[in-house]
Amino acid sequence: MERERQHAPTPLADVTLIGRHTQQRTVVVEAPIQAEGFVDAQALHNQLATAGSPVGLSTVYRTLTALAAAGRADMIRDTGGERLFRYRPGPEHRHYLICTQCGLSRPVDSGPVEEWADTIARTCGFANARHTVELSGACPDCGRRLAAAGRP
Ligand SMILES: [Zn+2]
Ligand SMILES: [Zn+2]
Repeated sequence: MERERQHAPTPLADVTLIGRHTQQRTVVVEAPIQAEGFVDAQALHNQLATAGSPVGLSTVYRTLTALAAAGRADMIRDTGGERLFRYRPGPEHRHYLICTQCGLSRPVDSGPVEEWADTIARTCGFANARHTVELSGACPDCGRRLAAAGRP
């Protein structure tokens, strides 16, 4: 299928997209590409430090936030307000259902949301309008576990 022959993610191009290319930024951009699912900036920072990369936490946050702003990552917040990032390989972004208990994330169809956002932006004359939609809750497994434990 044609779609499967898409180019692999190119971290270097994405680093250039968010500003001056530096070794540290490259390291930070590569990490979410290799990760499956969402990564939290703090854990990423710990992981890089353990691997011997002297990247500051603020650099990790700045780089990931810039990546999200450039449309190459999706950002959500967990229940503690911690920002989680997921690399976006294609131009079209995704929305996810996130389990706040176990961190499970699954992409969901967001066609109506995209249409609504496009229409509003166009009607109001906004260019490059972005949106963030977060859907979180307890996944079926966690929901059952919580119910069994007597918690809503
Ligand atoms: Zn869960
Ligand atoms: Zn959307």
